[in-house]
Amino acid sequence: MTKTIIGFPRIGEHRELKFATEHYWKHQIDQSELLANAHDIKVAHWQAQKDAGIDLIPVGDFSFFDNLLDTAVALNVVSKRYRDLNVSELDEYFAQARGYQADGETVRALPMKKWFNTNYHYIVPEFTNETDVKLIGHKLFDEIKEAQNAGVDPKAVIVGPYTLLKLSRFLDGTKPAKFVQPLIAAYQELLAKLNQAGVEYLQIDEPALSFDVDGNEKAIFDQLYDAILANDHGVKVILQSYFGDIRDVYEDVTNKPFYGIGLDFLEGAHNLELINEKGFPADKHLFAGVVNGKNIWRNEYDHTLNLLAKIKTDAPIVLSTSCSLLHVPYSAANEDGLASDVKQHLAFAIEKLGELVDLDHIVNHDDAGADLLAKNEALFKNVKHPVNSTVHNRINALTDADYTRLPERSEREKVQKDEFKLPTLPTTTIGSFPQTADVRANRRKFRHHEITRDQYDEFNREKIARIIKIQEDLGLDVLVHGEYERNDMVEYFGEKLDGFVFTQNGWVQSYGTRGVKPPIIWGDISRTAPITVDASVYANNLTDKWVKGMLTGPVTIFNWSFPREDIARKETVTQISLALRDEVLDLEKNDIKIIQIDEPALRENLPLRKSDWYKEYLDWAVPAFRLVHSGVQESTQIHTHMCYSEFGDILKAIDNLDADVISFEASRADFTLIDELVDDHFQTEVGPGVYDIHSPRIPSEAEIQDLIQQIISKLPVDKIWINPDCGLKTRSEQESFDSLKNMVEATKVVRGSI
Ligand code: GLN
Ligand code: ZN
Repeated sequence: MTKTIIGFPRIGEHRELKFATEHYWKHQIDQSELLANAHDIKVAHWQAQKDAGIDLIPVGDFSFFDNLLDTAVALNVVSKRYRDLNVSELDEYFAQARGYQADGETVRALPMKKWFNTNYHYIVPEFTNETDVKLIGHKLFDEIKEAQNAGVDPKAVIVGPYTLLKLSRFLDGTKPAKFVQPLIAAYQELLAKLNQAGVEYLQIDEPALSFDVDGNEKAIFDQLYDAILANDHGVKVILQSYFGDIRDVYEDVTNKPFYGIGLDFLEGAHNLELINEKGFPADKHLFAGVVNGKNIWRNEYDHTLNLLAKIKTDAPIVLSTSCSLLHVPYSAANEDGLASDVKQHLAFAIEKLGELVDLDHIVNHDDAGADLLAKNEALFKNVKHPVNSTVHNRINALTDADYTRLPERSEREKVQKDEFKLPTLPTTTIGSFPQTADVRANRRKFRHHEITRDQYDEFNREKIARIIKIQEDLGLDVLVHGEYERNDMVEYFGEKLDGFVFTQNGWVQSYGTRGVKPPIIWGDISRTAPITVDASVYANNLTDKWVKGMLTGPVTIFNWSFPREDIARKETVTQISLALRDEVLDLEKNDIKIIQIDEPALRENLPLRKSDWYKEYLDWAVPAFRLVHSGVQESTQIHTHMCYSEFGDILKAIDNLDADVISFEASRADFTLIDELVDDHFQTEVGPGVYDIHSPRIPSEAEIQDLIQQIISKLPVDKIWINPDCGLKTRSEQESFDSLKNMVEATKVVRGSI
């Protein structure tokens, strides 16, 4: 069988690309050196695939920032403000990705968004009246030459026109349809040029087919591909989907003259039914995504064999990954810190290459295959995820009452107003204060055993005392301890909970040069000791004001980790909820009467299809949150925080979390969410972030006043909180304090006027 992958992580085994790129940004190396570094990384990755025995090696999956941006640039979808900078092509590219600031010129970056249901972010291209789509890019062709010179026969990769249109922004009243004809011409030209370059295969990525596709969109899809494929350009075109099934366009796709169709059989389990019910044409190649590109566990060969056996088609099958390996770390071989019983179950990108080759042997029933299958069966037979029977007993004993907070919110609201006696429009922050160099140095020293636990804690206590005083001076109403002890909002909790393991080098690209190192859920999760109580209590004892406790919610901890696959998601998330529930009750017992449970990742993991939202996600995510806080007294106030403003369509579900207060990002979306809150009769008290903490700009008192006036002209004033739109950890202290001062003063003025 032929083996291929959809894409490979490009950051490098030891994040070489990150470091080289950042050196380039800091003018420490020049363009030629960056390109030379990138070349070495690409060649090393192609060689690794070749050595492993991969037949069709993707080329074009490399990127200095993001592949959708690469595609837009190749197609001349570049706005004038970047062209007008008159900088090198590479700098123009980076200007779009991260903004440009030099010699008095400032140009904003293009927006960034989460890539489907992953933690990777793409750059959102923008189409305007001036956009002149044509094939101008040479990156792909350069890389093809690089690959050919390195002895690699490339499978060229590019994002397809449908996904490009679906994910882009359209300004000046332009519509996607306007760009269909020029896109057709550009992709036809691409095919002709690939043929000239001696390329046999082109993989066109169309993950947007896994969203709901409506009639109009389907018409665009048909129009695009009927025309692009109308002439045979001598290149074998593979239509590659991933992250789900393609039920809305299955027939359209299978009826077109593609050489191959790539389907994800893991997240898109329904693809199997589509094939077996509607048939899969024997004259095409089925690129079967059977090795998980998103999770880090070893493939269970026996399961994969069963899956392959169930696919009813006479078409040749190509073994592939479910999505690009971009979403997993480079190699588990680099994890010396993990116990061997854990490590042997891990398959990162390099190991997944080996799995595809193993599967080929196994399917072919050769000698090596029998041995590989036996070894793999033994591995899975002996897997021992640590079991905690107390946790299981607790879960079995849960009843509806454990998910229901009493009395109902409107009752609690009255009790809490009496209890807290906060002014109208109470001011607060989202939790973190700037992680200044000394805070990070303290953590580093502790990690490297240069200071003792006591010294580490003492430093953080001083930080807490200082920030409490500063918040009092600023006149904030509900204070926080500042989160100085947290490196990362998920890792911090993971490290304190039983059941997680951590990699040393398991970096996954989040955006550009930013990476995350998601914790791995390995055993049953439980809390062995209080986590945040000390810091919150310490802060609380320093002030007469209310101090808000600060936790990361169960859905976010789950979504930002590598989950187990041997048990249901719901099971794992319930375990996390119970651990956090104990923490909430401990905080309450220790006099912390306001507790915030952050769920910034709740929105992003919504299934790609709306019809699945409630039956495959919110059905467990909402109860998980409720389980965490339903045990508290009526007078204890539960807050939550979400980063994205785009949750207008799940407001009911968010109300259903049954928190008392929610803060969220609103300023970047021009406060459109406020109207949606009004329309939906949103019940939870809200703090629509009154300024954007992602920008270094300090909002003026007048502009905040104006915003608050707008908010209270629409929503009941006794339900409004005033706060920034996210945590302040990435900002400087001066920016934070100046902004908060203006926020508090503006609030006071508005209070005086009502
Ligand atoms: N409490 C966290 C903070 O302030 C929330 C972070 C987030 O929303 N991502 O940093
Ligand atoms: Zn946030």
